[in-house]
Amino acid sequence: MQADVFRAWIAASARVIEEQRDHLTQLDAAIGDADHGINLSRGFTAVLSALESAAPATPGAVLMLTGSTLISKVGGASGPLYGTAFRGAGAGKALGDTTDVDLPGLAAALEAALAGVQRLGAAREGDKTMVDALAPATGAFSKAVAEGASDAEALTALVDAAQAGAMATIPMQALKGRASYLGPRSVGHEDPGAASTALILAALRDAALAGP
Ligand code: ADP
Ligand code: MG
Repeated sequence: MQADVFRAWIAASARVIEEQRDHLTQLDAAIGDADHGINLSRGFTAVLSALESAAPATPGAVLMLTGSTLISKVGGASGPLYGTAFRGAGAGKALGDTTDVDLPGLAAALEAALAGVQRLGAAREGDKTMVDALAPATGAFSKAVAEGASDAEALTALVDAAQAGAMATIPMQALKGRASYLGPRSVGHEDPGAASTALILAALRDAALAGP
């Protein structure tokens, strides 16, 4: 997977965030402050114009610019968290200067994204955050890759686990982020950040399988 696939991933993410903006905001209205869709829509719009003017040449550079732009343009908690995730994936220790990313490389990048989110936000699985989608997705993807799965199988495992993880946040009580202020009243609602993570990872699958 070369830089164009990663640009296509980010463009597909921006599209689905736009389509689901009101839905994500409604999820956040139930247990937060009703801005998650608006935050991500603003962030990804800025990312698209940044990618257009800078035209980064490597997958890592695409993700680094995506992350930096999200950090600088999104005010809510999700901006720094997603920004750190994309920068973690794109950084030297993950994708670095690689021009053609294989499945193990993508698995390492996703692990680095998860590590970045957890370093910054200190959420664990079960705290009802984006980690509840990202952690099982990353785990399922790495396992599939280690077992020699095809691109399609590994990416399907990634998305299935992310979607199941997002659904699994419904009965959880939030222990991190704004939703935690609600205590037990946060139970019974899907976490908006877990929902957006599942959308962004589905966009990755679609872009990667569409190929160059
Ligand atoms: P804000 O909470 O500042 O309004 P958003 O509404 O854009 O920001 O994003 C909320 C989402 O951010 C939550 O649904 C959750 O998934 C995620 N989140 C919040 N705090 C954390 C954290 N400490 N670790 C991981 N994810 C978090
Ligand atoms: Mg919010």
